[in-house]
Amino acid sequence: MRTTADVVVIGGGIQGLSCLYHLAAKGIKNISLVELDMLGSGSSGRSAAMLMLSMKREETIALSFVAWKEYMAFAGLFGESTHFKPIGHLSVATRAAEHELREEIAVQQKMNVPIEILYPEDIKELVPAVNTQDLVLGALCRTDGVIEPHAVMQAYARGAKELGAEINERVQATGIVLEKGRVVGVETTAGTISTPLVVNATGARAKEVGAWVGLNLPISNYLRHIFITDEFPAIPQNTPFVMDAEVEWYFRKEGENVLMGMGREESTTYEPQFVPEFQEQVIERAALRAPILLNAKILRGWAGLRALTPDDLPILGYAPGVEGFVNCCGWGGHGVMHAPTGGILTAEIVADGKATSMDVTPFRYERFL
Ligand SMILES: Cc1cc2nc3c(=O)[nH]c(=O)nc-3n(C[C@H](O)[C@H](O)[C@H](O)COP(=O)(O)OP(=O)(O)OC[C@H]3O[C@@H](n4cnc5c(N)ncnc54)[C@H](O)[C@@H]3O)c2cc1C
Repeated sequence: MRTTADVVVIGGGIQGLSCLYHLAAKGIKNISLVELDMLGSGSSGRSAAMLMLSMKREETIALSFVAWKEYMAFAGLFGESTHFKPIGHLSVATRAAEHELREEIAVQQKMNVPIEILYPEDIKELVPAVNTQDLVLGALCRTDGVIEPHAVMQAYARGAKELGAEINERVQATGIVLEKGRVVGVETTAGTISTPLVVNATGARAKEVGAWVGLNLPISNYLRHIFITDEFPAIPQNTPFVMDAEVEWYFRKEGENVLMGMGREESTTYEPQFVPEFQEQVIERAALRAPILLNAKILRGWAGLRALTPDDLPILGYAPGVEGFVNCCGWGGHGVMHAPTGGILTAEIVADGKATSMDVTPFRYERFL
């Protein structure tokens, strides 16, 4: 492992790897990434892997548009496919969730997201499996879809290495060395790396790493479970990702199988605790929203953490009071789709002195002070 670097990226998830690649692409040669386990072993390897333009807010839609450009050009840029499948994203709302969904649709229309309003009979026609009896509205974005996050991470890792960056798996950052309020090094389980600049891309542990330099990053981690059924042809391949807006329960095809996700309980540990019994709640919602899924057998599942800020926007860029410490964290439930954006903006902030691809004001740490 190098003992000196121009930049150290802590965290080998999809955001840290994107930062690594985009910093290297800006011409910074000597960058070192440390990952305490294996690349993608955090939330990035546990997601539902959706890319969406149909996000809820102007800020997150803007993040999606920047990401979209790179994701759609990915194979040309990296020689590696994202395996993107535009399956579409359908949000359905009961009376309780209608107001919120209508507000989201208005924002999406304003931001030129290709969104279609559906009524219960349209929803039934599109996805016969959905029980529409208590639904009042749906919003469909046909261009949204699913990718393969591991392929993206491998492409970023390979691209960064070709540009001279170094990746160290099973090396944990344990502290940051400060001198007169500025970063001078990162302590790790494999020794200290002298560096003037560190990127905090540690996902669920970002609050802990921020605390090393005196920051109080308002990030809380929320558990989400995913379950995979056995082969289930009764839900056909052309089914979109269906989100029940009221309870954030969702399903989509995963190969021949069906993937279901749900959960927003706060986690007290950094290791997501898989609770097999949670499937009872998932099945309960399935019974209401897509009862045909009661015939499916659940084969396996996992849990992951969503590192959420109070306003569900990420924390990006330098923090006041400590020189050389850059955050790229707090990505909540959208860090995979926004991975290119996190890396692009971080690289612009570090290498060019400011972000130019979009306005990063809403993502500054200072908004919490
Ligand atoms: C069930 C579930 C479904 C989701 N679905 C979607 C989706 O459909 N679309 C979407 O865009 N997003 C989704 N998300 C959110 C997405 O997974 C995250 O926002 C994204 O993975 C965050 O990436 P990251 O690189 O910031 O964090 P991570 O992938 O968690 O990476 C952080 C890395 O830092 C490492 N690390 C931490 N501390 C240290 C240290 N001290 N030293 C060294 N390494 C350290 C960790 O080991 C980890 O590998 C979902 C999340 C979950 C849990």
